Amino acid sequence: MPEPTRITVLAGGIGGARFTRGLLHHLAGTGTESEVTVVGNTGDDIRLFGLQICPDLDTLMYTLGGGISEDRGWGREDETFTVRSELAAYGVAPDWFGLGDRDTATHLVRTQMLAAGYPLSAVTEALCDRWRPGVRLLPMSDDRVETHVVVEGDEPGTRRAIHFQEWWIRHRAALPAHGFVLVGAEDARPAPGVVEAITTADVVLLPPSNPVVSVGTILEVPGIREAVRSTPAPVVGVSPIVGDAPVRGMADACLRAIGVATSASAVALHYGSRTAGAGGHGLLDGWLVHDATDAEAVDALTASGITTRAVPLLMTDPMSTAAIAAQALALAGELRA
Ligand code: GDP
Ligand code: CA
Repeated sequence: MPEPTRITVLAGGIGGARFTRGLLHHLAGTGTESEVTVVGNTGDDIRLFGLQICPDLDTLMYTLGGGISEDRGWGREDETFTVRSELAAYGVAPDWFGLGDRDTATHLVRTQMLAAGYPLSAVTEALCDRWRPGVRLLPMSDDRVETHVVVEGDEPGTRRAIHFQEWWIRHRAALPAHGFVLVGAEDARPAPGVVEAITTADVVLLPPSNPVVSVGTILEVPGIREAVRSTPAPVVGVSPIVGDAPVRGMADACLRAIGVATSASAVALHYGSRTAGAGGHGLLDGWLVHDATDAEAVDALTASGITTRAVPLLMTDPMSTAAIAAQALALAGELRA
């Protein structure tokens, strides 16, 4: 059966970007005519030093546009940090955010356009004119929403919320978290084109992004979860958890905060099966787990209404990542048939 033409990916930063790069590599290799839309998480966004910073959109744009630092996985290659050290010399807080000089130009352009009244989706499109990521990159929402993390307060028994970036970067996700709040979500709307990209897609893919603070956040924008649940397209996800740990980063701390075990199987069940027969309000038709560590999860997940395959899931290079994308599309093709 011919491969799908309209592919929509709900992505966070590094995991989402690397997977999508592999997807484009696969599509180019097979000569498939396709339109890929990436809906990027903006819950990580933060305003610092007067600049509007969108870490996940920038990771997607730089990775797909060839400007990413491969070592760090975020920010620009050949980066310098003079602005950051000058700000620190003034004693301006915070000093823990990785604000690079090249990156700062992106934030300046974005902030200036937002101040002139352009919505974030239009700003993102303008930035992508330079980077040509090969996908249509949409923020999940043009409205300002921010993930905050509920942690212990100073007084025993009290709690307070801090910005996700403060928890993630400054505290390295080591402060015990009691949950996440997407501030502004109630009144947020999906950005123009987001719902249509999901409901008119041939395939919807959940890449191996953080299921809580990347994909989970996107799904919290009113209307997006419903779009994923109701799309006629198969919905296939790729596990970010391999064995009992995230491949990279601290997704285990996020899962712990919402009471979900750190395993490929628990994440799949957290997303849930879309099949009504399975009784769930879930999202997934198909799921990929890592063959060397998680093959034993296949039968039970498949029986629960999520058709699961065990394949290699390490995105070590463009070829292996393209193969993961190919497996996701193949599973989607099976599910559609
Ligand atoms: P972030 O916004 O930059 O944190 O990136 P994402 O949310 O898009 O992706 C983070 C997730 O990618 C982490 O939970 C990792 O476990 C996952 N990840 C990173 N590299 C790999 C890989 O090679 N294979 C798989 N399966 N997952 C990966
Ligand atoms: Ca992120």
